[in-house]
Amino acid sequence: MALMGRMMTDPLLISSLLKHAERHSGDTEIVSKRVEGDLHRSTWREVALRSRQAAQAFARLGCAPGDRVGTLAWNGHRHLEIYYGASGSGLVCHTINPRLFPEQIVWIANDAQDRVLCFDATFLPLVEKVAPLMKTVQHYVLMTSRAHMPAASAIPNLLCFDDLLAAESGDYHWPQLDENTASSICYTSGTTGNPKGAVYSHRSTVLHAYAAALPDAMDCSARDVILPVVPMFHVNAWGLPYSAAIVGCKLVMPGPHLDGKSLFELFEGEKVSFSAGVPTVWLGLLNYVKANNLKFSTFKRTVIGGSACPPAMMKSLQQDYGIEAIHAWGMTEMSPLGTLSKLTTRQLSLPAEQQQRLLEKQGRAIYGVDMAIIDDDGRSLPWDGQSSGNLVVRGHWVISKYFNHEDSPLVSVDGEPGWFPTGDVATIDADGFMQITDRSKDVIKSGGEWISSIDLENIAMAHPAVNEAAVIAARHPKWDERPLLVVVKKPDAQLTREELLAFYEGRIAKWQIPDDVVFVPEIPHTATGKVQKLKLRDQFVGHKLPTA
Ligand code: AMP
Repeated sequence: MALMGRMMTDPLLISSLLKHAERHSGDTEIVSKRVEGDLHRSTWREVALRSRQAAQAFARLGCAPGDRVGTLAWNGHRHLEIYYGASGSGLVCHTINPRLFPEQIVWIANDAQDRVLCFDATFLPLVEKVAPLMKTVQHYVLMTSRAHMPAASAIPNLLCFDDLLAAESGDYHWPQLDENTASSICYTSGTTGNPKGAVYSHRSTVLHAYAAALPDAMDCSARDVILPVVPMFHVNAWGLPYSAAIVGCKLVMPGPHLDGKSLFELFEGEKVSFSAGVPTVWLGLLNYVKANNLKFSTFKRTVIGGSACPPAMMKSLQQDYGIEAIHAWGMTEMSPLGTLSKLTTRQLSLPAEQQQRLLEKQGRAIYGVDMAIIDDDGRSLPWDGQSSGNLVVRGHWVISKYFNHEDSPLVSVDGEPGWFPTGDVATIDADGFMQITDRSKDVIKSGGEWISSIDLENIAMAHPAVNEAAVIAARHPKWDERPLLVVVKKPDAQLTREELLAFYEGRIAKWQIPDDVVFVPEIPHTATGKVQKLKLRDQFVGHKLPTA
């Protein structure tokens, strides 16, 4: 019989991260650029107190274990307090992407059955508009102080976050939850059909935070000043609010101020050493810095992911500004970190150009994530840097099911079940460096945000002059990908590009409207009648978008 270990089995809980940060880094700052326009200064100690008050406030509002607390909010201290206050007390923090179309936001909040909705003042008009459609929300909480509450609102009983907290003592003990209790939910539109929710647990979140902080991952330390540009509504800001608590470093939250000038001033003013975000954000920041002939004085490294990092951007960050650009890959379903591009000792003696080519790949899996590439029959392919296959993953922070979907998305590899199909197509070389070469999922990723090709096709097909429509991703220098609409008109129908694009207005978020339309005599189909997207993409591979 196996000899059992004699170690303590305390559950891995999100509240333990905050308790650690409060005790060991209580004075370390949390700085937030707020919607109200001010630069707010707080500490881990204060965030811990206010998180406990938030937990008490949610309980007073009638929230019971497992209830969902929705957020529509930028990165800031109040959002952080809701993260810890909700999850820590056994509620589920549901971050909603405010960039989605209002109907999608309503759909997601209803699917998650949010009981409370907390939101920044930016989103008051949006929430006032959608509140009548929210089926389960009982309390609306404006994340601000009494002084900034509106005199009147279409939302009856609009609550003030700071008031709710002020009414509580903060004398609260975090419950000892089962570590597999749900802690947060993030919906992804990177799937076919409606958005789907990834439900993280305390255990998966803590393990991910540990791994993400390691030197060959995000390399977080107490000496860092971390500014997550990646939103807290995009996979928990890639886990940084948790990893920062583990190491007890200073956090700088940019709020809604994500333009190059505001970011640069915040980086310099707060001595930021490390950041993370999608390529589009760095483009804005670099353009500003270049145009004004500026240099960073403390910014040393950044993780870039969510979309492929353009090699030129990586080179510019490194060579012009001395910033280490770490290319990373992951997804909502993976909490999100999967791979990061960091070199091994042996690789550091390779010629500079070879090193650069490796760094441009998506990188090696961090411990906790296992990956494989497989052919269409589920057979694994060699790690030779040449064979390209469907990328599948498994690990401590990879979903096994989506929220509200009982069917398993998992597939088998060489007959072994339990692998999550990422929808990405990749090669892996002998050193384990993975490189994304294509995508099998039918979606478009623009500036790090998903656009559903199916939604765009359905709208086009609803136009009386359209016979058939297909949407593919076209390359764009700023957004990486933008939607290109390929249309077959009805016989003898009159329809212009402009008329068709105008048809999208009000039917989908403005930034999701296709950049261009091409009219073709026919769209290629498979034998079973499905649109051959691959062939279509090949056909328009060099298409120059008017917006490019
Ligand atoms: P999300 O769930 O929104 O984080 O999107 C995850 C997807 O974004 C992945 O499955 C990839 O298709 C894409 N993605 C993320 N990071 C990268 C990267 N570094 N290079 C290329 N594609 C990426």
